[in-house]
Amino acid sequence: MINYNENNEGMRTATAVKYANKYLVQGHPFYDHYTSPQFVGFKPDMADTNLMNIILLMSGYIVSGQIAVKHWKPWNRWTKAIAMTKGKSINLNVRRMYRPTGSILNTIVHETVHIVDSHHSYTFGHGSNDPTGKSKTAPYLIGKLAEEYYETGKLYSYNELYAL
Ligand SMILES: [Zn+2]
Repeated sequence: MINYNENNEGMRTATAVKYANKYLVQGHPFYDHYTSPQFVGFKPDMADTNLMNIILLMSGYIVSGQIAVKHWKPWNRWTKAIAMTKGKSINLNVRRMYRPTGSILNTIVHETVHIVDSHHSYTFGHGSNDPTGKSKTAPYLIGKLAEEYYETGKLYSYNELYAL
């Protein structure tokens, strides 16, 4: 489970965490869609396994593991980092929280992909921190899919994903 225990009124973190936990568990339309057989053939960029398997691994981790979400005030107030993940802890830059819930959900799902990646022999990260050309790597792609589902209910077909 992804846990968030701080009490910060006005922050959208608790809502984003709630949906990250829901979407990645069997029985939810998001999980059921992206683990359907059509996605066996879809491999995110820089990954050595397919989208379906990555979602399955994320789900297993969320059901049986623990991830802590915290707010973080970077010493360097100009840093562009929106989040920093250490071990099993996702630290969200408090200075970059003034954005829609779907965007925060995207960040939490993105960082969850990194945590799960680091606990498996498969590789599905995005290499360096330069985001250019990385939109179809697992962290950026699954984060975006969660954000779009939250904002509009959209579920992408294989062909739509391929065309992104
Ligand atoms: Zn990342």
